[in-house]
Amino acid sequence: MPTTGVLTSAASEQNLPARALHLLQSVFGYPAFRGSQAEIVQLVACGGDALVLMPTGGGKSLCYQIPSLLRHGCGIVISPLIALMQDQVDALGELGVRAAFLNSSQSFDESMHVERALRQGELDLLYIAPERLLTQRCLEMLDGVPIALFAIDEAHCVSQWGHDFRPEYIRLSVLHERYPDVPRIALTATADGQTRTEIIERLQLGQAQQFISSFDRPNIRYQIVEKENVRRQLLDFITAEHAGEAGIVYCLSRKKVEETAEFLRENGISALAYHAGMDTPIRSKHQSRFLREDGIIMVATIAFGMGIDKPDVRFVAHLDLPRSIEGYYQETGRAGRDGLPADAWMAYGLQDVVQQRRMIEESEADITFKRMQSARLDAMLGLCETLTCRRVRLLAYFDQASEACGNCDTCLNPPVSFDATEATQKLLSTIYRVGQRFGAVHVLEVLRGSDSEKVRQWRHHELSTFGIGSDKSEAEWRAILRQTFALGLVEIDHENYGSLRLPEAARAVLRGERQVAMRLYQKPVRQKRAPVRSGSYTETGLSAAQQTLFEKLRWWRMETARTHNLPAYVIFHDNTLREIARAGPVTLDDLRQVSGVGEKKLESYGAQIIALVGEQGAD
Ligand code: ADP
Ligand code: ZN
Repeated sequence: MPTTGVLTSAASEQNLPARALHLLQSVFGYPAFRGSQAEIVQLVACGGDALVLMPTGGGKSLCYQIPSLLRHGCGIVISPLIALMQDQVDALGELGVRAAFLNSSQSFDESMHVERALRQGELDLLYIAPERLLTQRCLEMLDGVPIALFAIDEAHCVSQWGHDFRPEYIRLSVLHERYPDVPRIALTATADGQTRTEIIERLQLGQAQQFISSFDRPNIRYQIVEKENVRRQLLDFITAEHAGEAGIVYCLSRKKVEETAEFLRENGISALAYHAGMDTPIRSKHQSRFLREDGIIMVATIAFGMGIDKPDVRFVAHLDLPRSIEGYYQETGRAGRDGLPADAWMAYGLQDVVQQRRMIEESEADITFKRMQSARLDAMLGLCETLTCRRVRLLAYFDQASEACGNCDTCLNPPVSFDATEATQKLLSTIYRVGQRFGAVHVLEVLRGSDSEKVRQWRHHELSTFGIGSDKSEAEWRAILRQTFALGLVEIDHENYGSLRLPEAARAVLRGERQVAMRLYQKPVRQKRAPVRSGSYTETGLSAAQQTLFEKLRWWRMETARTHNLPAYVIFHDNTLREIARAGPVTLDDLRQVSGVGEKKLESYGAQIIALVGEQGAD
């Protein structure tokens, strides 16, 4: 059923804001626009180009969906996320918006059907994969129909430096050349300046107005812990804080993905694996289970996650150091899109630094690229080793100033810094004494005075530095060594079996000309109970009876989602169900007031919900 035909025909720019708001309320069921949404909608609806940078969960989709409904013709959404198009289209269908997609997963008949609908003006929104859009056939088809706008989603895919690079994106500049009068809106959650410049250049968006939102995600708590026994630490974290909840665990390698998922399953946790080396049917099945079932943990490489708009992912964990802050921020951003408290948890250790530095050094890339990767890694290490608020560091990376947040580990449990000058000197001179020809294990043995066979064999027990570090544990020394890597005071010679060597910067420390401050090693504590969340985050604010109703509504939603083969959140978000439980609507008009209930959903589910609420009231 078209909800929009009437509205579209009365195109006048005067009452545009009112019409946009009306669509927001009647179709999407939300009371008001957020942040710069209203401004963006207005601009694009009037035919202007926009570049929208908003964090994940910021509400980018409405910025093109509503203008598509307001303008004459069909909105074309270019997205690389073929696997998610079906869900996106289904979700729009639930709202009464006429949407479809074209991509290679369809049969010929299916795409013919969609093309016909487009030609007959029966579509409000059409999602197209970039490689499909660029075919001669598709462009010719678009020539013949009115187009409301082009939305270029995940626009950072145009950047050759990013890990999401898609060559077809570069060719999307054809849209500007071929359809100069159709407004274009490019959207991304990747914020760094370089990517932004590339998007503007390559997509020819020089005329576009830029909308850069705050990148803060206040409901996400950032936490970076020292790595000891990482799987155990992960298990403790999940059991203590997120039992039965959905989450994503990122690992660097496919092997580690499989092993970690297996380990979690052995410990009674519903975990699934996802990486690019798996057969496509299994991978899609895992993705679909993650989206559709409650409380699944996805253990994955970074191949997983772009475009996953599951709102109730309660945590994102990193078992390996991400390559850059952009990557880290994008991945952690997948937690808590519903605005409820969520965790970004990462375990980090010496080996991570060694491994990442080696990967850069051993890559085939040219020197400029390597230098840039190194700079990105350094920024990431700076975040891990920081003595101040993590969020301040993160936002500063995106050129946004902020105050200590009170919702990250360094704010909640400030790390202690100590003067590590002497310890660093001991370490550096041991590396020097063993001839810069041995790796970390051996150096630490000499330093701590371990009487090992290898030490004797090289007669290193006779060195002046033998045992000068016996006052500290191995873990403490590893933490110090890790920080010297991060500070650039020690290097790893990968050509030489990973032996430790001293760069020029080490000299000043050895000579006593440079002081070194470090984070004091703190033995990881096992987490037992969920820490008390601060202020408004905690309260669900439901009475016992309301809570029971909420549970009932969730049951109803699960059943409904199953019969329609939809993810549960496409029917209603947790937030909406909670709001219904709190408000206890008696009539459809009462229910209409709840945020997240639009006209189509009222029509489809209103009666059932009112009945459920009524039953509860009668109990
Ligand atoms: P993004 O694409 O930026 O990651 P989405 O467009 O998926 O974010 O929006 C994130 C969530 O916020 C969605 O569940 C969406 O329905 C909701 N949302 C967006 N705009 C509003 C609004 N104005 N009021 C209430 N909820 C909104
Ligand atoms: Zn903080």
